[in-house]
Amino acid sequence: MSKKFHIAIVGAGTTTLFLLHELLSLDDCALSRIVLTIFEATADAGAGFAFSKDAVHPDLLSNNAPEEIPDLLTSYIDWKKTCDTTSQSNRKVERRADVGLFFKHNYQAILAQLTQRGLSVYQRRAVIQDLEKAEQGYRLYADDWLTDSFDRVFINIGRERAAPPLKGTEYPYPTSHYSAKAYRHYNVIGSSLTAVDCVVGIANKKGNFCSSNEALTFSSHTDWYIRLFSSHGVFPRVWYPSDDKRYFSAYLRRLSNQHYQTVDEAYKSLLLPALKAHTPSIFLQVSHMSFDQMLTFLAGNEKSIDPWQKLQTELTSTASEYSQWPVILEAFLETIEFSNLSGEHRNKNEDDTLHALIAFHTAALPYESCLKLNALHNAGRLEVISRHIDEDELAGNTREDSVYIDGTGVLPAINKSLTAEKIKQALKVSGFHFSSNNRTPGERDFELLCDGKPSGVYLGSAYLQPDRWNTPGLDTCKEIAQSLRKSIEQTLYPKQKIRLPFQIKVPN
Ligand SMILES: Cc1cc2nc3c(=O)[nH]c(=O)nc-3n(C[C@H](O)[C@H](O)[C@H](O)COP(=O)(O)OP(=O)(O)OC[C@H]3O[C@@H](n4cnc5c(N)ncnc54)[C@H](O)[C@@H]3O)c2cc1C
Repeated sequence: MSKKFHIAIVGAGTTTLFLLHELLSLDDCALSRIVLTIFEATADAGAGFAFSKDAVHPDLLSNNAPEEIPDLLTSYIDWKKTCDTTSQSNRKVERRADVGLFFKHNYQAILAQLTQRGLSVYQRRAVIQDLEKAEQGYRLYADDWLTDSFDRVFINIGRERAAPPLKGTEYPYPTSHYSAKAYRHYNVIGSSLTAVDCVVGIANKKGNFCSSNEALTFSSHTDWYIRLFSSHGVFPRVWYPSDDKRYFSAYLRRLSNQHYQTVDEAYKSLLLPALKAHTPSIFLQVSHMSFDQMLTFLAGNEKSIDPWQKLQTELTSTASEYSQWPVILEAFLETIEFSNLSGEHRNKNEDDTLHALIAFHTAALPYESCLKLNALHNAGRLEVISRHIDEDELAGNTREDSVYIDGTGVLPAINKSLTAEKIKQALKVSGFHFSSNNRTPGERDFELLCDGKPSGVYLGSAYLQPDRWNTPGLDTCKEIAQSLRKSIEQTLYPKQKIRLPFQIKVPN
């Protein structure tokens, strides 16, 4: 009888959902050789944090048009047709709550199919706190008890959930924690995606948006307002489902030679020519700059702009060079992530400034959320204050009618959760490096190296991968899941080394 492989997956979010879907492509014989244990900290298996009940209340939007949500057992559009029609609307992007329901439904249905076809699956509701090397494989600390050992461990825990919010502030999610209370002054720190979730969450609880004559207005009977504090003082650009990142990704992959040594080399040979072809006036401004200089320069251009004027212009104008170049940047980052830079590899965890700049340029808000921000501003409920807020100021807030919320991207902590640092300590490595295990160019392997050798531990969380600069989305989860499935296949059926039975003589 062939050996059974014991595989642990930590975290049952989006990447794990896509991985389970990928496993459906294995034959029944392969499936019967796997014993899979999935550890999930919450009751929301399948949704992941972004689409879980904590992050979707009450009407927060995804960045995905229906056709951009990857298919699972059915397409999202077909699944939506089978749902209660009252939840249908003419929104351009989907509610995160609806996407979460789609994911949870698929998670259960896929597990049922896998089990029926011979896969042994155990689901454990537990927080994984740490891992340690065992004689064979790894053991996990789950809620203070130690598991049996696993041959392979897949760490799909999403964004790290150990950091506290800024001192004197509340976590951004769930928004009901503060929106349901009778505060008069809401102070949100940040002006990007999480901060906008906080604003929309508060507004939806306190009043009503009303659409009349194609304009959105806001009304509320109580006295409150929101101040957003951010050092750059502008919102991310308006995102339309028509943003054609796929076109630019295909274009850049055709142009890419896959062998760049450094980000700057790829910038000069790949991004600059793309900017020249598609956004010539941006190219003229930045062509003599390095990658970092270009990002800093273009971010600086935005600081002098009034946020409301910028929002108005973007809401009313069609795609321009200004709105196109961040899409090209995103596609560029995706291309070099795939191509595995072969030389110097900049590490995003050690390069906070560059990472923040990239996040600033590539973030984009759904059109509908921008209309809501505009309506709140017109109703005198929302202002943006362009300044950095420090800890002393937060500590000095003693007003009972005022609350500060950390909207800079920190997520509610999971007590004692596994972190990148703990993984490094368990593997005794100072940084994360991946194996290149028999992959063809353009493909990646997410198995971590330990002493230069494949460790059996895979980092499926895009947020923890040091060389991933783009903000991960559903496409990223799907791409990582495909790679993880290939790794499982290689474990089950290691490639036989082909031995030639005789020496081939090369004719002179
Ligand atoms: C607020 C927010 C909104 C987003 N909106 C969008 C969007 O609209 N469109 C889009 O494409 N992308 C969006 N994203 C990005 C998207 O969520 C991520 O790309 C993707 O969900 C990450 O998948 P994951 O599987 O790595 O992590 P997650 O989906 O977050 O799953 C991680 C899972 O691991 C569990 N977990 C964590 N730690 C432990 C532990 N120690 N032990 C056991 N279980 C653990 C968590 O409970 C969770 O279920 C958003 C992200 C956030 C944070």
